[in-house]
Amino acid sequence: MPETKHKVLIVGGGFGGVKAALELASDHRFEIILISNQDELRYYPTLYHTATGGRRANSSIPLKVIFQGKSINLVKDTAVSLDRKAKTITTESQKDYPYDTLILALGVTTNYFGIPGLDKFSFSIKTQDEATRLKKHLHDQLKADHKPDLNYVIVGAGPTGIELAGSLPGYIMRIMKYHNIPTRKMHIDLIEATPKLLPKLPKDTSRLVARQLKRQGVKIYTSSMVEGEAADSLMVNSKPLKSHTVIWTAGVANSPFFANNGFNLMNHGKVAVDLYLKADENIYVIGDNANTPYSGLAQTALYDGKFVATNLKRQLTKKELLTYKARKPITVIPAGPFWAAVVYGKLRIYGLLGWMIREAADFIGFHDLEPWDKAALQWLSELDSQDDCPICAIARADS
Ligand SMILES: Cc1cc2nc3c(=O)[nH]c(=O)nc-3n(C[C@H](O)[C@H](O)[C@H](O)COP(=O)(O)OP(=O)(O)OC[C@H]3O[C@@H](n4cnc5c(N)ncnc54)[C@H](O)[C@@H]3O)c2cc1C
Repeated sequence: MPETKHKVLIVGGGFGGVKAALELASDHRFEIILISNQDELRYYPTLYHTATGGRRANSSIPLKVIFQGKSINLVKDTAVSLDRKAKTITTESQKDYPYDTLILALGVTTNYFGIPGLDKFSFSIKTQDEATRLKKHLHDQLKADHKPDLNYVIVGAGPTGIELAGSLPGYIMRIMKYHNIPTRKMHIDLIEATPKLLPKLPKDTSRLVARQLKRQGVKIYTSSMVEGEAADSLMVNSKPLKSHTVIWTAGVANSPFFANNGFNLMNHGKVAVDLYLKADENIYVIGDNANTPYSGLAQTALYDGKFVATNLKRQLTKKELLTYKARKPITVIPAGPFWAAVVYGKLRIYGLLGWMIREAADFIGFHDLEPWDKAALQWLSELDSQDDCPICAIARADS
């Protein structure tokens, strides 16, 4: 009689879902289906690089490539509803997928906190398409006006805002040169609602990162609230700031799937989970969706995916289950060319060494998802540039 396999249904093709699938794939006792609404895994940590002249391929990995040769059934669809009694997920295309165990890793969505105009006028870098749209806008604006925008405004001085503020000045200078526009001083403004940059990190790190950004000409406005955006300006602390380029990096909200399907929500709408990352009978919630101490980081999502997979294997052999111990992340934030801040407990490293650690971390991050050779190619693609602008393509070829 053929062996009945334990059906694991994973929803979400990001860091957490993919890691869980890869960990389980080599164990023949499991039948794995992964549903994702994207064909690719978005490698968010390098999206800022894609937005400032880097290749799209550097920040995305096709799921088919990751799962090549593995027994994982990949389905492109969007999970819409959950039937706990029937143990099924129903998708947008009206198909039902049964499970013995369900793992949910759906990631977060952009949150504008209801501030008027942001959804219509601001740019974002949460997907490759958004990064490409921003890049196109930067080139189009130079072509149309033949001078830089009055202000390039980045809202949110968390890691994403800092990474972008560190790479945008060099990128704009470079494309101005390609567009044959005489180099001139330009304004890059970084706006943060709280009193310091990197609100979750120590004060000394915030201070040194601020100094590094100021060296590159970035103007920093802390304790500054964005109140609304129009086509050519942003209202900040009741004053208009002229700009056609506002990049919003300041807020995320949990996937609406959880509120729509009766999950118990905690801080910032994250899902309550127990010591095994279980949110319900046979349902695990991991990564950005789970209310754990370090949720919101790729490192945590990878760790969670591996943790749940390990316990599922132990469960089948009736071994005692492990309890979840949140792992303190290493924070590595680039803030300009060849400069990054590293914070791990009391350890601090700044500058070139920090940047080298970041490069190594990206390589390890790619290798968490791909074999060495493919991870190396993915990592090296950082050296290539990609702009759809024909003027820049010709200028680059000539230089
Ligand atoms: C710009 C940026 C930079 C970042 N930089 C870093 C960094 O340097 N270091 C770090 O540790 N973290 C970083 N992060 C955070 C990190 O990327 C996230 O914590 C991580 O992606 C979370 O993994 P996840 O699996 O929970 O969700 P995700 O990786 O977001 O994956 C969720 C997946 O589910 C899919 N999905 C969503 N809804 C559905 C549905 N209903 N049905 C089917 N599929 C669905 C999504 O399309 C996506 O593929 C960054 C984030 C951003 C936005």
